[in-house]
Amino acid sequence: AAKRAGGSCHVLFEPHMGSDASAQLELQNDLRHALARGELSLHYQPKIDGQDGQICGVEALLRWTHPQHGMVSPAVFIALAERFGLIGQLGSWVIDEACRQIAEWKRRGANLRVAINISAHQLRDNSLVARIEQALARHGVPASQLLCEITETVAMEDMKATQRTFDGLARIGVFLSIDDFGSGYSSLNYLRQLPARQLKIDRSFVNDLEFSEDARSVVNAVVKLAHALNLRVVAEGVETAAQRDILLAMHCDELQGYFFARPMTAQALLAWSSGDQARGTLDTPAPRAGG
Ligand code: C2E
Ligand code: MG
Ligand code: MG
Ligand code: MG
Repeated sequence: AAKRAGGSCHVLFEPHMGSDASAQLELQNDLRHALARGELSLHYQPKIDGQDGQICGVEALLRWTHPQHGMVSPAVFIALAERFGLIGQLGSWVIDEACRQIAEWKRRGANLRVAINISAHQLRDNSLVARIEQALARHGVPASQLLCEITETVAMEDMKATQRTFDGLARIGVFLSIDDFGSGYSSLNYLRQLPARQLKIDRSFVNDLEFSEDARSVVNAVVKLAHALNLRVVAEGVETAAQRDILLAMHCDELQGYFFARPMTAQALLAWSSGDQARGTLDTPAPRAGG
């Protein structure tokens, strides 16, 4: 059964509510003050190494605890922030907070690589690389402990900006990942030129693995493609043991999803990664297929 960890996110404000014009206006206004009022936080979801079943990193996911609506999904407020020019501020806060957290975990003896999600706006921002470099320096964190996830769709939107930002981040030693891979259309030749370290297979394919031969073929092909390009493959949205077993048999490098753990607070993550919850999940690795 899926392991549940503390601090799981309850989305009380559904995405469709964000389409109401007046509700949107109100939400937009509230979002302007969210940062100053300390309503934003990062939750962290483990990534599990397919070889040894150990935690090999975490993804930082932004959370907004609205005073009336409760936890608002980033699916709602990231789009709002993009539209109303607030994403730069939010993005900078995420960068700094992630670096601060890496340093804090380090002091407590945990060396975790943290992935942050980068928006389209940030990707086009010429000062992003310097901003990240400064945040790393401010908190005394090595660049290799930070990973930036950029969705395939965004990466392909503005290939010039993608190439420039990826090159800049790779130069300072930050790791790069193509998120939600398979949901857009990549030029393979272009993909080959990006200094990325990993590909994350979109949740929709993982979801269909057990029941769709086509999904299995696509995922199998993506794993082979990624390995041919020297990229690690991460599967996101793993919810069942059957999905895990299929992915391990295909030699998927890392797994992430509710089956292992939900996104949780920094404190819960520390307990989870050192505690019995982690061991209980990971001590029973599925047999690997030969090859
Ligand atoms: P993403 O980067 O693809 O993150 C994965 C999403 O899937 C997260 O949703 C996570 O909570 C959810 N998830 C993880 N495992 C499972 C599972 O097993 N089953 C299911 N059904 N879902 C799972 P979340 O936190 O609501 O974030 C949604 C999206 O919002 C993210 O997709 C990302 O694109 C964006 N986002 C989140 N935080 C940030 C941020 O700090 N900055 C930016 N620019 N975007 C962010
Ligand atoms: Mg992501
Ligand atoms: Mg993703
Ligand atoms: Mg996704």
